[in-house]
Amino acid sequence: MYVRGVGPRLAEMLAARGIQTAEDLLYHLPFRYEDRQNPRSLDELKAGEVASVIAEVRGTALLRTRRAPLFEVTVGQGRFALKCIWFNAPYLKDKFQAGQTVAVYGKVEPSRSAQKSGMGNLKMIQPQFEILPDASDDAETRLLEVGRITPVYESLGGSRLASRWQRKVIFHLLETVRGGVPECLPRVLLERLDLPDRETALREVHFPAERTSFAQLQSFSTPAHRRLIFEELFFLELGLELKRRRMKERAGIAFVTTDNVREALREVLPFHPTAAQKRALAEIVADMREPTPMRRLLQGDVGSGKTIVALQAMLVAIENGYQAALMAPTEILATQHFLAARKLLERSSRKPRIVLLTGSLDEDRKRTNRGLINRGEAQLVIGTHALIEEKVEFDRLGLVVVDEQHRFGVLQRFRLMKKPSPDGTAGPEPDVLVMTATPIPRTLALSLYGDLDLSVLDELPPGRTPIVTRRVSDERAVDVWEFVRKQVALGRQAYVVYPVIEGAQDDQPELDFSRDPEDGVAAQPSEQKKAARRKRTENLFPEAAREANPAAKSGLKSAVEMHEKLRTGALAGLRVGLLHGRLDADDKEMVMRRFQRGEIDVLVATTVIEVGVDVPNATVMVVEHAERFGLAQLHQLRGRVGRGAAKSYCILLTGPRVSPLAEERLNAMVRTQDGFELAELDLAMRGPGEFFGTRQAGLPEFRVASLVRDRQLLELAKTEAARFVGDSGGEATEAERARVRTQLKDAWQRRYGLVEAG
Ligand code: ADP
Ligand code: MG
Repeated sequence: MYVRGVGPRLAEMLAARGIQTAEDLLYHLPFRYEDRQNPRSLDELKAGEVASVIAEVRGTALLRTRRAPLFEVTVGQGRFALKCIWFNAPYLKDKFQAGQTVAVYGKVEPSRSAQKSGMGNLKMIQPQFEILPDASDDAETRLLEVGRITPVYESLGGSRLASRWQRKVIFHLLETVRGGVPECLPRVLLERLDLPDRETALREVHFPAERTSFAQLQSFSTPAHRRLIFEELFFLELGLELKRRRMKERAGIAFVTTDNVREALREVLPFHPTAAQKRALAEIVADMREPTPMRRLLQGDVGSGKTIVALQAMLVAIENGYQAALMAPTEILATQHFLAARKLLERSSRKPRIVLLTGSLDEDRKRTNRGLINRGEAQLVIGTHALIEEKVEFDRLGLVVVDEQHRFGVLQRFRLMKKPSPDGTAGPEPDVLVMTATPIPRTLALSLYGDLDLSVLDELPPGRTPIVTRRVSDERAVDVWEFVRKQVALGRQAYVVYPVIEGAQDDQPELDFSRDPEDGVAAQPSEQKKAARRKRTENLFPEAAREANPAAKSGLKSAVEMHEKLRTGALAGLRVGLLHGRLDADDKEMVMRRFQRGEIDVLVATTVIEVGVDVPNATVMVVEHAERFGLAQLHQLRGRVGRGAAKSYCILLTGPRVSPLAEERLNAMVRTQDGFELAELDLAMRGPGEFFGTRQAGLPEFRVASLVRDRQLLELAKTEAARFVGDSGGEATEAERARVRTQLKDAWQRRYGLVEAG
């Protein structure tokens, strides 16, 4: 489609930013608005607020400072003035002339220099600005930018595709398509939810009508916004719902639970299960008895006791004559699961055969184990990726348990079960149970894993004493080491965790540094935009970028160096071990075993110990440079202690500079131990993209919705999607249903391809 104002070259630039069709452009929404109908007056501005101001240019100055050239514009209204400052931007000199009317947007700050010169006392640093059109400009520009609520767009590249350009192009586009934007949601649905039609919504989000609530616009909650957000989430939920239903049509294994099976489960229990464990197991077993494949997520905070639940589920499969497989994300965890399972199964009168399959086993062992699995002689198989990679063919695979799913990515979690069965027929599909220790806020879990059923372990086993968490400045590290020595003297063990393996390089893929956007000016709508802003900030402030990038920062303590230092210094005389991701698998395993057996007092490590490692005698977790770790990670690390009856401690050592966001994370850690509470906070602070660690988590990218902001609409979309697929979907006309289907296909392919492929 021809869009006025977009030639082939611009089209290419837009395509590079993911805008390939006219529709894409229409869904590229303003990220904020300026109320130029009711401009703010300068005298009411307060330091600290983020404001948009329209004023007259009074004067400009280009100052050379020691660090960087500084460009200053003084704008005023009557006798009030505001100073605007930009660094490294001498080219701005040609843009501003006294007498122009400009709109500036940024954080208002007190200004000392301005006060001295008696010009008012406020300034804005690096504000966004737009010089408003005057009588010499064309009528259309004036129409779009003066005396109205004006949309502001994230630049799509350079000054060429700036906000002003987008405004015009989108305005023309909306004119061209007037009356011709097809509705993609059923009319009854829109009526029931009181949402505007698609075209009206698109028009209103770009060029809001005069009386639109400005507060609603800024919070993306006008009816028009809600309609577009709902639309996007509805198609996500519809896709998930259909996937779920399709799964229920496939052939699975209907396991039976006889008294025999129940007895087998009872035998292995070393303790009384918690109510949550009982409930989760009951839900899992109920699924396993169904003749359709189970797809269930078992979610439980660290230490909530997922292992035994999974093992019991596996025993159900085994007692039914099937094989069960457990896939862990690392060799350490696979080995630990193997040892734990073997120990629990010692109590079993059936003595199922259990084998370990990891990449580092020697070829002979691997071959032997593959054979056992292939002939069905190994009933319980525990392994890593090797289960997928080493051409393992199961004889009668009945249940797959995938641990720590988010580390695998969505695709891999299903590849295992898709292995062809040895006789070449498709056969019934195995059940799949995914376990995760990431406390995912419930709405998010339900929505993102809408194709999975959910069981939650929301209760810790009894007898745990709360972990004492303290934040300590690293100037007092001596006291901390003294404390560690005392605990060791009491027969306990400790972890000391560092952000890097060696040197000051951030070379661990698993490390999840939280990058704080430096400026914090405006709350922006999406992750992409945040990333874009981060980039912009980095370009403007090379120093800030260096600071935000831990790799470039020196003075970072590393596990290897500190292991040496502590061993010969503050912790001399104790048995100090070292564990990190670059050790080969055998060494890792050996160190872990020695720590588990109590032959190492203090384990100096990186975040490789983060997930799942279980040593109940360890009571101290020291995290150095704690300000550099993400909240989810700190929580996981803390979960390594407090696993036995003894009182446990988590000490967060921090360096001299702690950003406000890091401050918030550390305070939260001290305040609460509730994983779900921390997860909610983490989600709010970082957004879902970083919350899950990587994009590979299969997280859909949204163009208008935000999983943090729009949770209520997400719930609504879920309900409506189920209703649409269910019986009451008959409310929609046949033509509407056809359009919904087309749109769904389109939306899923384009946006949620990764999820769909799973
Ligand atoms: P996670 O959910 O983190 O995988 P685990 O399954 O490793 O938790 O269990 C944590 C610890 O709690 C283990 O040492 C386990 O033996 C113990 N545990 C689990 N369930 C119970 C229970 N119901 N009563 C007592 N101890 C339990
Ligand atoms: Mg576990």
